[in-house]
Amino acid sequence: MPSMKRTAFGSTKKPKVYNQQARAAVFLDRDGIINPDTGYAFRPDDAELEIGVALGLSTLKKMGFLLPVITNQSGVARGYYSLYDVFAFNQKLNFILQKEAQISLDGFYICPHFSGGIIPQYKAECLCRKPKTALIEMARDEFNIDLTRSFFIGDKVSDAQCAHNASISPILVTKEKKLPSLDFACAIFSSLKDAVKYIKKNTQI
Ligand SMILES: [Mg+2]
Ligand SMILES: [Zn+2]
Repeated sequence: MPSMKRTAFGSTKKPKVYNQQARAAVFLDRDGIINPDTGYAFRPDDAELEIGVALGLSTLKKMGFLLPVITNQSGVARGYYSLYDVFAFNQKLNFILQKEAQISLDGFYICPHFSGGIIPQYKAECLCRKPKTALIEMARDEFNIDLTRSFFIGDKVSDAQCAHNASISPILVTKEKKLPSLDFACAIFSSLKDAVKYIKKNTQI
């Protein structure tokens, strides 16, 4: 059986476990939540933060949440850019967050696969493409995260479905007027600011 370490590209940081107690996380989608979703963005020079992200994420950090990023990057399998481009873009986001709010994200968990892709090594039906949950499980094991006390903020139904599949509270942040119909409970807001307010109200960490 192939190990997930070989098929997914998560952070290789050592677990930051300060005590035996599992910590809560706010899992974050990347494109459309941290940076504007401009469609397969990969140039570090194009990396910028969505409005309210620096303040919103630093509030969550101060509350004690870990902030792992869970991102589908099928552009790698499609041959639009390389995995190294994804790393460079992610690094630039962390650089901006460090400068604007003195915080860093807690690892980027990346799915580079797509079954309809053209790059042989990434053309695959994998276990890590959202709404599947392998990337969540990698982050959970690396950081000792209690999923039941965690949230997942995304902008697509596949993000909410992924959260639901992993028993994490789903939150959608979307400006779409027509809201998606889901067969599970999901909080929906039009801004990250409101999502953070909701987390403040609905958490006991
Ligand atoms: Mg997105
Ligand atoms: Zn994958």
